[in-house]
Amino acid sequence: YGDASQKIDYVFKVVLIGDSAVGKSQMLARFARNEFSLDSKATIGVEFQTRTLVIQHKSVKAQIWDTAGQERYRAVTSAYYRGAVGALLVYDITKRQTFDHIPRWLEELRSHADKNIVIMLIGNKTDLEDQRAVPTEDAKEFAQKEGLFFLETSALEARNIEDAFLTVLTEIFNIVN
Ligand code: GDP
Ligand code: MG
Repeated sequence: YGDASQKIDYVFKVVLIGDSAVGKSQMLARFARNEFSLDSKATIGVEFQTRTLVIQHKSVKAQIWDTAGQERYRAVTSAYYRGAVGALLVYDITKRQTFDHIPRWLEELRSHADKNIVIMLIGNKTDLEDQRAVPTEDAKEFAQKEGLFFLETSALEARNIEDAFLTVLTEIFNIVN
């Protein structure tokens, strides 16, 4: 499982986007290495991590790209989006502004990425329910209107992280098969 001799049937590039500090890097750490850190430093340099998994008896290498602290508007380069077949569009449920910026991120994603890209909207940090500033219904409605998948997650509690990535990867798999 995951060793060098394993035959890879597919490589899927998936990008993480959204405002700074919403938890993108910790979601990736959780998915790729099952790790989490409360004092994560802002990501430096373009980075991706991979995890190989099996979907319908085929081995799929997920190559997940994380922004390099380029979360200012229009700072993410087109190279970041190039070849991406999936995207996780992340906001923080405790910071309304990060949700209000989602249409902007979506517009940028759609102008750079393939038009068949699979997109999931994610409200992260559900462990901070008492500080919630974005009602689930608002996000659900937006996702429905825009044709996005939607989940709320907690990288800290490892809640729905696996589900979020697997839903996107499985949908991509179904599109190419
Ligand atoms: P990024 O800038 O979007 O990559 O955000 P980071 O992954 O660096 O996370 C920013 C801060 O939020 C860090 O202090 C993380 O530990 C914290 N964080 C990330 N995910 C969660 C979560 O699910 N719950 C809580 N409570 N904190 C989180
Ligand atoms: Mg980061």
